[in-house]
Amino acid sequence: MTKQTLTKQQVPLLDLQAQYAPIQSDVMAAIQGVFDSKQFIMGPHIEGLESEIAAYCGTTHALGVSSGTDALILALMALDIGPGDEVITTPFTFFATGGSISRVGAVPVFVDIEPDTYNIDPTKIEAAITPKTKAIMPVHLFGQVADMDAIMAIANQNDLFVIEDAAQAIGATYKGKPAGSIGDIGCFSFFPSKNLGACGDGGMVTTNNPDLYEKMHVLRVHGAKPVYVHHVIGGNFRLDSMQAAILRVKLPHLESQHDGRIANAQYYDAHLNGAFTKPSQKHDGRMIYNQYTIQVGDAKRDALKAHLDSHTVGCAIYYPISLHLQACFAQLGYQAGDCPVAERAATSVLSLPIYSELNSDQLAYVVETVNQFFEH
Ligand SMILES: *Cc1c(COP(=O)(O)O)cnc(C)c1O
Repeated sequence: MTKQTLTKQQVPLLDLQAQYAPIQSDVMAAIQGVFDSKQFIMGPHIEGLESEIAAYCGTTHALGVSSGTDALILALMALDIGPGDEVITTPFTFFATGGSISRVGAVPVFVDIEPDTYNIDPTKIEAAITPKTKAIMPVHLFGQVADMDAIMAIANQNDLFVIEDAAQAIGATYKGKPAGSIGDIGCFSFFPSKNLGACGDGGMVTTNNPDLYEKMHVLRVHGAKPVYVHHVIGGNFRLDSMQAAILRVKLPHLESQHDGRIANAQYYDAHLNGAFTKPSQKHDGRMIYNQYTIQVGDAKRDALKAHLDSHTVGCAIYYPISLHLQACFAQLGYQAGDCPVAERAATSVLSLPIYSELNSDQLAYVVETVNQFFEH
């Protein structure tokens, strides 16, 4: 497709209009159904979605929650992690990963990432363990599961919990195991830009541990058990029934959307050319490409972004500032240079449109526009 035939916003980074067009009447019927029932809080759609997600993720339990961020907070609370404790995590992630650790009163300890997967580098975890360390919180960034065999081995040797931040990885697998089924607790987000997105906020925790499930079940409703009786202090971490009903319409389409993203990634892998690094899949398993992120060296990333912006190709920098250098974590005492791989990634990554509804003209236009930049 030539530039002349494309209108503005022809290739957005994400196209929710295209995503909802084929299922809009089903989504509207689901919303109408919840409205007609007037069961806005809890009820059959919550329980239905929980058992469907548990089956999809291969866990014995799943619990709907208010967001991916609240999933992380609930997981930390269920493991009694708080003041005086440290949690090892990656600095190259969405803010909520580190923020949730601080919000329960614990200290995030940032360990640098692998240059090829952007996930936490397991070879650097042991040096960060102290007597205060309680858990490791790997993130499965961009839809690729972190090196969980290495992480679980370190956790088992050092008696640490593992909370998987699987917000970007629903349906991803690692050596046959689904994201969210490997550690003690898996945390998912239904933010609209995730592979399974709601019409608003939502999230889910998964676990194979019945005691942790029971604890999170109680903490989700202020710690009440039975109602109005509190032995622990929880919060309001409930998922809305309306969102659960919508997600139950969308879940049956998720596999074909993953397939579409993977096919688009294969097209980019085959056709993009230039002095940059394409995403690489390190371990046996399935990456579900929540993002297709390239790495552009030689300080050319921002110029490429400007080139794509001016040619109406959506793109975004995930993430421009490594968490260890965020102002709100200054009191932790990190300096520039402490996580060099993450810092380099922050200056060189760029995510391209990868959603499954991209048509062949759009894919060709993205390739043409990117390749053109590197030819000159
Ligand atoms: C989206 C996301 C979250 C937070 O999820 P919300 O539903 O937006 O609260 C946490 N961690 C990662 C890695 C994410 O991408």
